[in-house]
Amino acid sequence: MTTEKNRTTGKKPFDFTTYVEQIQTRPCFICEIVKGNPEYRHHVIYEDDAAIAFLNKYPPLYGYVVVCPKEHREMVTSDFSADEYLALQRVVYQIGEAVRKSVPTERLYILSLGSQQGNTHVHWHIAPLPPGVPFEKQQLEALGVRDGILDLTDEEMGAMAAMIKSNLHLETRG
Ligand SMILES: [Zn+2]
Repeated sequence: MTTEKNRTTGKKPFDFTTYVEQIQTRPCFICEIVKGNPEYRHHVIYEDDAAIAFLNKYPPLYGYVVVCPKEHREMVTSDFSADEYLALQRVVYQIGEAVRKSVPTERLYILSLGSQQGNTHVHWHIAPLPPGVPFEKQQLEALGVRDGILDLTDEEMGAMAAMIKSNLHLETRG
């Protein structure tokens, strides 16, 4: 690279077509992470009997974490009892607070998306919008990957995971 990399905003191209083909043809990547399949290694932030949280491997925003149930469930509300759902939201809340404390955050986005045509395993996105992004580039515009993803090394991702973990106040295992 010829210019100093801005690790929080510098982007590299993202091959969206290959990504879509992969998520539609490969096993559920979240179930593979839970099983510990090394081909699906992610930087895990938190894990308990029911939930797992890890860094988004293809982040459009710095400090972007995904929270999931460990069991393969798909429907964001109807595949859970209210108590199971609220237990997951407790993790979402605590991860959200840890992310907010770890990276400059003008606004914290939390949402569940996914698709029955790929990425069926339900998950919550915890995505911190950095300060200073123009209004028209905020919200859903800030979450897209077609314009590229952050250009972070595995070491930088590891450091970010460690920082978020250090700000997390839930019991963690291992
Ligand atoms: Zn799954």
